[in-house]
Amino acid sequence: SPRFAQFKLVLLGESAVGKSSLVNRFAKDQFDDFRESTIGAAFLTQTVQVDPNTIVKFEIWDTAGQERYKSLAPMYYRNANCAVVVYDITQSASLTRAKAWVKELQHQANENIIIALAGNKFDLQESRDVDTSVAEAYAKEAGLLFFETSAKTGENVTELFTAIAKKLPIE
Ligand code: GDP
Ligand code: MG
Repeated sequence: SPRFAQFKLVLLGESAVGKSSLVNRFAKDQFDDFRESTIGAAFLTQTVQVDPNTIVKFEIWDTAGQERYKSLAPMYYRNANCAVVVYDITQSASLTRAKAWVKELQHQANENIIIALAGNKFDLQESRDVDTSVAEAYAKEAGLLFFETSAKTGENVTELFTAIAKKLPIE
């Protein structure tokens, strides 16, 4: 019989890297050029078919990246099964911030948490500020899944969430 499993996913990363845009692309296949910034956190769900017999439902907490909301983050990652830490490939400071989130998750979150690093705004190649190889080497060393994504074009968005779903422990 078909298998169905449900997991909590949290999105973390600096403000304006495209967290909400990635979730909206994934959950609604939509993109807005002028997305209003998230206040507190937003909740969305989406399912992915992992194999012909297995469906995973993600319960997604999209957090606000601003410093003033930083103290709320543990509330969202504490029970999370998986996390997507997002940076913007055109802003190397956002990768530095992403690394700090990864460290915090690895110390404070569920010890089996699956973490993916997403280098978003892959469509803005002409403004690239983070080499793929640098981010990839970091992700490998830290034990993270790694994808460069574009919420705008949709590139690698489904792939990112499907890769996470495939690593989750489904009975
Ligand atoms: P958040 O603060 O991390 O949730 O970021 P938002 O999703 O609100 O996005 C911030 C801005 O970046 C918005 O103007 C989005 O339209 C834009 N944006 C998000 N993802 C992409 C992307 O993949 N490519 C481009 N070109 N712009 C993006
Ligand atoms: Mg947002």
